Amino acid sequence: LTARLQGFGTTIFTEMTRLAIQFGAVNLGQGFPNFDGPDFIKEAAIAAIRAGANQYCRMSGLPELNRAIAAHQQRFYDLSYDPDSEVTVYSGATEAICATLQALCDTGDEVVLFEPFYDSYRASVTMAGAVPKVVTLHAPDFAYRPEELEAAITPKTRAILLNSPHNPTGKVFARGELEHIAGLCKRFDLIAITDEVYEHLVYEGSHVPLATLPGMRERTVLISSSGKTFSFTGWKVGHTCAPPALSAAIRCAHQFVTFCTATPFQHALARAFVADDAFFAGLIAEYRARRDRLCQGLRELGFGVLAPAGTYFVMTDIRPLGYADDVEFCRMLPEQVGVAAIPPSSFYEHPAAGRHLVRWAFCKTDDVLDEGLRRLQKLP
Ligand code: PMP
Ligand code: GLN
Repeated sequence: LTARLQGFGTTIFTEMTRLAIQFGAVNLGQGFPNFDGPDFIKEAAIAAIRAGANQYCRMSGLPELNRAIAAHQQRFYDLSYDPDSEVTVYSGATEAICATLQALCDTGDEVVLFEPFYDSYRASVTMAGAVPKVVTLHAPDFAYRPEELEAAITPKTRAILLNSPHNPTGKVFARGELEHIAGLCKRFDLIAITDEVYEHLVYEGSHVPLATLPGMRERTVLISSSGKTFSFTGWKVGHTCAPPALSAAIRCAHQFVTFCTATPFQHALARAFVADDAFFAGLIAEYRARRDRLCQGLRELGFGVLAPAGTYFVMTDIRPLGYADDVEFCRMLPEQVGVAAIPPSSFYEHPAAGRHLVRWAFCKTDDVLDEGLRRLQKLP
């Protein structure tokens, strides 16, 4: 293993899902739905395979999908992107993040991340030869301190990577915070990389893409993924929207990472992005009910529940139940209780800030949430 990758170990998702399988645990850890997305999307993928759409497609994405993504950005956010020169399709948001950092960061450049961060960020920044500069979102409300963000910016800063709605906290950044971040990007001539994969899972307030703020579209790489919105995480189709010069640079990396993304899934998702309003409203209503069910159950068990405004995760404080260490708690849980969860301290550069927290996923049917809660009554 190269020096670059030393210390990254095995991702916490692999570790916890392995324990869940080994002990037959209810998996409230890794964030994937235990149900499929809509039939019309599945049928479109099957039809595309039958119709022979099985070879490489255009490197930057199937033209119909790029057009559908551009139409989606216009419809929900009033953001205009040219499908051919400004929208690009990848094998998941994970690849989009990695290719963006490869394309835009030189060795020694610094990228500001908010911790806790989705675990691929720090690895992707490091693989690009850049250096992560980490700003803490402080529990329990996960606000950042403006002076801490300002202090993280140096002459070497190239980009701020912002994830809202935020995994694992469920935080949706407030407009005032976005305005502050946008102001810094403009003042110090930084690129904003925004991970918006949970854009349609917002229960309080609304999702505001940073690119919609004045002066931000031209300096923002907006990243999202169809995995969360359409409940097909295993299809791994993500995208970026960015001005032509930034898109061209990122494509330069993408063409040598994967070149292009699975063709039949792109045909299917071209239908998905133009789904009717009832689909998107139904998605939120279903997830809100799941969120409320799990939060209520965890509260009754005695956890300190930090109810999320967005995403399909909830953070809980484990101290009221007499536990102090998230990793110990989550390693014990599958075997002793038959439930799996995620210890968020692996999403921190300063793990002490997250030791008392545990993340639970509610992208699960009611029977699974109820069974998980029932088993948790046996907590030692
Ligand atoms: N960013 C965040 C914040 C995520 O939670 C995830 C999904 N786990 C991803 C990116 C990756 O998305 P994809 O599966 O499309 O690569
Ligand atoms: N994004 C999902 C989560 O946060 C899982 C990602 C993964 O398995 N790498 O749980």
